[in-house]
Amino acid sequence: MPISTQEFELLLKANRILSSTLDINNVLHSVLELATEVVHAEASALLLLDEKKNELYFDVALGSAKESVKEIRLKVGEGIAGWVAQERKPLIVNDVTQDKRFTQRVDKSTKFNTRSILAVPLLTKGKMVGVIEAINKKEKKPFLESDREVFEIFANQSAVAIENARLFSEVTHEKEKLDLVFSQMQEGVLLLDNQGDILLINQKGERLLGLAPNKVVGQQFGKKIFPDFDSGPSWADIEKNKSGAMAFDLVRTKGKDLFIGMFGQRLESGGFIFVLRDLTEQKKGERLKSDFLSLMSHKLKTPLTVIMGYAPILASDADKLEPMQQKAVEAIGIQAENLAGLVDKLLSFSIVESVNLDQKREEKSLSAMLNGAISHLRYVLDSVHGVVELSPEVSKLPPLRVDENLTIEVFRNIIENGVKFNNQKEKKIIIKGTRDGQLVSIEFIDNGVGIPPEEFEKIFEKFYQVENSFTGQVPGAGLGLAMCKKVVEGMGGKITVQSKVGTGSNFRVLFPVS
Ligand code: ADP
Repeated sequence: MPISTQEFELLLKANRILSSTLDINNVLHSVLELATEVVHAEASALLLLDEKKNELYFDVALGSAKESVKEIRLKVGEGIAGWVAQERKPLIVNDVTQDKRFTQRVDKSTKFNTRSILAVPLLTKGKMVGVIEAINKKEKKPFLESDREVFEIFANQSAVAIENARLFSEVTHEKEKLDLVFSQMQEGVLLLDNQGDILLINQKGERLLGLAPNKVVGQQFGKKIFPDFDSGPSWADIEKNKSGAMAFDLVRTKGKDLFIGMFGQRLESGGFIFVLRDLTEQKKGERLKSDFLSLMSHKLKTPLTVIMGYAPILASDADKLEPMQQKAVEAIGIQAENLAGLVDKLLSFSIVESVNLDQKREEKSLSAMLNGAISHLRYVLDSVHGVVELSPEVSKLPPLRVDENLTIEVFRNIIENGVKFNNQKEKKIIIKGTRDGQLVSIEFIDNGVGIPPEEFEKIFEKFYQVENSFTGQVPGAGLGLAMCKKVVEGMGGKITVQSKVGTGSNFRVLFPVS
């Protein structure tokens, strides 16, 4: 039977109402209210499917008993609604007393008297959302096939509206969660799309870059949006980046010092996500340390040279001096030399810090550099009963593209530490070399005091020394390994340590094959 004009208008009205909101509560209430209107029923019920439990429940209800109704749950298969959900078919029951499928549970709770039911499944894209029922056709009439047709169309509209509102609320909920995480983060977050336009920036990111809230979304990443900073890479530079991960600093050029570390990762979409960190304190600290180092070493060097120049002159006339004066002159000479050694270390460290390690790199033989380091240490080794064993396979390894002098200095430091932090009678260092693909690995295995695991990383920091109580009073500045790390990493390599206290240490230097 064709749909009447009046019914058609009602369906249009329903469609208009249902598509005017994405609020799930509004949608459900509208469905419930419209359901009675479209088929002239006294009441209606809307049951949603709980997929996990395979049960139907009343999320919304109207009338005085609405709260108690909400507690009722029907198993799929139970009652008229349960049957409709199970069979996914509409059903008209014009006298519920004559239908075994009918359950009294809902009526008992609502004190409502159900006579007739028109129930249809709410289906969208083949998915069951729930069941909608029109209850008691007005004027005690029966529900007809034409009512079913209209109600099915209405159910389809309703199912789509419910599903859309649900998806929207899921997305909104996810977005709220993400917004919360981003807003609480200690670091700034900046998300760019595949055109380099800003998709998202959190509060911390806006604050770090000095941006007004909610102003830059949609704008292209670049100097235009943070004019107070030095330029940093443009989107074109970022896009060209092959590795997928990149890091750079943005430095504020106006006002107080501000260094922002930008750590980025390419996304599958072609966009980029950046984490922004305030590195000002760290950078200032580094600058202060290296300024201090170069100042100290240059200012100390001149007076020391004078002392070291005069001390031997005084000593050469020792016979004219009192015994006490002789002792003093001798001590001045020895201590000045110790101090000069320390100053040299400081100086070479500050040079390594400021120099571009790439400039003086050439292909050099590994075994020649190791032998060079050993011969520099000949005097030290002999004086402490130190033995260095260089494995023959080292000579078969390919040459390395390195700064020769600095690399020898690295090896010298590691070998010297191996005998310095060593209480054995015979202080032994074995040097092994292996090739692993594109890497050459050089191992220095000593039989010294060893290093506790919690110190493995710290010993590579500037001025760090393991507690004296542990290693014994050994002179040094705690700069050797910091210098080694700086040099090795500056030439594309890596330095690590493994050790067992009381047994010895194993320092490993990795260099890429040239
Ligand atoms: P320094 O030798 O001037 O003390 P380093 O930077 O060379 O400074 O070493 C830092 C610290 O690491 C040392 O003070 C020592 O405690 C520990 N260390 C370094 N090499 C060894 C080693 N081979 N065995 C045991 N401890 C070591």
